Amino acid sequence: MNRLIYLLFISLVISCSKESNDSKSNPNVSSTKNNAPNSNDNSSSDQSSSSNDTSTSNDTSSEVKVVFNTKIHSSLPSEWVEQYNIILDTLDKRIPVYNKNYDDLDIYAWNSNTDKPYRSEIGDTGGACICGNDQKRYMVLEIPEDEFKYNSMHRYSVIAHEFFHAYQMSISANFNSGDFKVKWLSEGPAAVFESLYVREHYDYNYFIYDQERVDKEAVSNPSIYESYDSGGDTNYSSSVFMTLALVKELVKLNNTEADAIRMILKDFQLQNTGTANWKDVFKNVFSFSVDSFYTKLSDYQADINNVVPSENLTLQRIFNN
Ligand SMILES: [Zn+2]
Repeated sequence: MNRLIYLLFISLVISCSKESNDSKSNPNVSSTKNNAPNSNDNSSSDQSSSSNDTSTSNDTSSEVKVVFNTKIHSSLPSEWVEQYNIILDTLDKRIPVYNKNYDDLDIYAWNSNTDKPYRSEIGDTGGACICGNDQKRYMVLEIPEDEFKYNSMHRYSVIAHEFFHAYQMSISANFNSGDFKVKWLSEGPAAVFESLYVREHYDYNYFIYDQERVDKEAVSNPSIYESYDSGGDTNYSSSVFMTLALVKELVKLNNTEADAIRMILKDFQLQNTGTANWKDVFKNVFSFSVDSFYTKLSDYQADINNVVPSENLTLQRIFNN
């Protein structure tokens, strides 16, 4: 019961919009189960009942996958729907989402040229996020109309980004419950993942074209990006930069680039990282402290071009699957 109350009042928002990126606060609760791209069920998933605070070591311990109940509005072009289904199929291979911490997740997708078609179910929630209210949590993909007009890669990358959050929720009970709130280590990995995805599958360098607005504070005052309140992290560019600089530092310690990325995107969260232990987990997984990493950052120039991962890296190599 305590767990339930805790979940009800948790306020975590995993929000991602191309222009504003930083999250607004929405309460978050849970629900999720097997990857069923484009399934049209409804399902009003209730609370997840399996969250707990014990640390996890392996996300394949459960064979059952989270059920994604997708509601795609007719305002979205058929080519977007087609790509959505392809992306979900691909992600199911690279980052399968098991029902360890939640069983199912409703997904609402529409074109912004339509006025909130799911208002009766999710109120005025818009943008792109995993968000919700005190009753349940869901994924929202409101794709800005302009992104179709200008063929913005974000219309596809945002799918990978939000599903990466669903993956983070599945491998860490503390992430799922909202106890882990370090922005650059939550959003940086999701935004790096989306970039890697579109570079591999659409031959588009999202790092260089869309995550290039790195703030000087990323090297001079990086701890501010631990908070979702930090401004200036446009499209999470600064969080991405810090994440990729961490990759560079791990490679200096003789990790391969693929291993270094996996350590940050997966291994770190697998330790059920939370508010109380994240600095200890950081040191255990990466072998140097957060503070020493922040000091190392001062040797970098705040330029995404200096930290972009190798072109030939694939998600398959990173996740060993
Ligand atoms: Zn996000």
